Amino acid sequence: MTMDTLNITNGDIILEFIYLLSALLFVYGLKLLSSPDSARRGNLWAGAGMIMAMIATMVLHRNGEGEGIKGANLAIILGAIAFGGVIGAVVARRIKMTAMPQLVSFFNATGGAASALVALIEFSNPENQSGLVTLLGLIIGSIAFSGSMIAYGKLNGNVKDLFTKWLTYINLLILAGIVFLLLFILFGHAPAETKQTLVYILLAVSLIYGISFVIPIGGADMPVVISLLNSFTGIAAAMAGFIYQNQAMILGGIFVGAAGMILTLLMCKAMNRSLINVIIGAFGGGGAEGLDREKGIVKEISATDAAVMLNYSSKVVIVPGYGLAVAQAQHICSEMDELLEANGVEVKYAIHPVAGRMPGHMNVLLAEADVPYEKLVEMDEINPDMSKTDVVVVIGANDVVNPAALDDPSSPIYGMPIIRVHEAKNVIVMKRGMGKGYAAIENYLFYNDNTRMFFGSAKDSLQKLVSEIKAL
Ligand code: NDP
Repeated sequence: MTMDTLNITNGDIILEFIYLLSALLFVYGLKLLSSPDSARRGNLWAGAGMIMAMIATMVLHRNGEGEGIKGANLAIILGAIAFGGVIGAVVARRIKMTAMPQLVSFFNATGGAASALVALIEFSNPENQSGLVTLLGLIIGSIAFSGSMIAYGKLNGNVKDLFTKWLTYINLLILAGIVFLLLFILFGHAPAETKQTLVYILLAVSLIYGISFVIPIGGADMPVVISLLNSFTGIAAAMAGFIYQNQAMILGGIFVGAAGMILTLLMCKAMNRSLINVIIGAFGGGGAEGLDREKGIVKEISATDAAVMLNYSSKVVIVPGYGLAVAQAQHICSEMDELLEANGVEVKYAIHPVAGRMPGHMNVLLAEADVPYEKLVEMDEINPDMSKTDVVVVIGANDVVNPAALDDPSSPIYGMPIIRVHEAKNVIVMKRGMGKGYAAIENYLFYNDNTRMFFGSAKDSLQKLVSEIKAL
């Protein structure tokens, strides 16, 4: 059999070759993303792979009749790319670093929506042979879209957790409805118009499921859900790739889907939770407060005393949290670290897997301030050293150091591993007031005998500390 009889042109071969090259660039990009030093380059290489695949498709793609993409369609594609590209670039440049988690959720939502729209349009295309894949793309893409929009609202503080036990049953019912619709559309006997209407209903039900699935999940479970939704978007994109038999799209989608799923499982492990437990929502937001324990007295510390305490320690551990990102205090924090190191103090950073508002948030923040990566120590590694640590400085962290997770079975965060700062010899907590963290629960760490509170916005407090240390 020759290439002519198979209808394969040189253009097709070049296109497949370029897709292969793009896939290699995606893998290389992913590899570079595994370290903050090379992550920026990783993004650029993977982006270059995607641009290459897009240009090659526009130039070389041929349909069954050997025709390329029509001029008018090409104009629409380029127009849409320019329109979306300009909006994306402007938003990404203007966005405050603190709003980054919301933006990531929003971009994730758009990815899900794009895949769902592809599936919606292609369902009625008579050339499309893959009904099951198309409908799965529609369902998963829609759930990723509406779920990520709810996650966006929660991270932005516009959407509150809504947890009631009956929502779990409603969710199971909606899920059963989705499976029924899917099977009926695929195998049921009904006219084409009826099936088309059912596809629209399936779209609506999937969108509702995305909302009702994410809305009850709160407290410390959000990071797991965010990475799960990210994985859904990748899977939906891979489904869209299957519809078009486009290798670059399939591979790109699978990479995102697999990476998201690995991250989800790692997050579950870090939180000591099973995925089913998170999805069914036993944690929930709930607003539960935990045990009503007797509070001790809150003891404050002045900048001068804190500076002396830190400067004459031998081991200091900094625990960064969401408040450090809000205050944008990473640079001044790094300056304090350098001053202490110059005075012979060993300084390390304890990184909790869900600190901040997106996976890897603290790593990104500290890398931005050029904190050497070797100084960042994972929770499990640093916890055994806590009792030997002279001072722990908690900067804008709350839930990730809350001992209720260890000793209060009635607490909504019970069972979540924490950084055991309460075991250190001294603890200094920097925050603005007695405000609660994301899980909205009381933290008895602040009342412990060995805890001193340093009130104020993290940037101002660190600035004062740096001046005091310099003056010593
Ligand atoms: P928390 O949200 O628990 O606490 C942050 C603390 O920072 C608050 O108590 C606040 O107290 C303080 N703060 C706010 N602004 C400032 C400021 N300018 N200066 C100093 N302090 C400030 O943060 P953690 O990092 O400890 O925990 C993260 C939480 O977010 C976890 O519950 C996690 O599950 C959740 N989450 C994480 C995601 C992720 O992917 N990492 C995604 C979604 C949710 P005060 O008001 O008194 O200043």
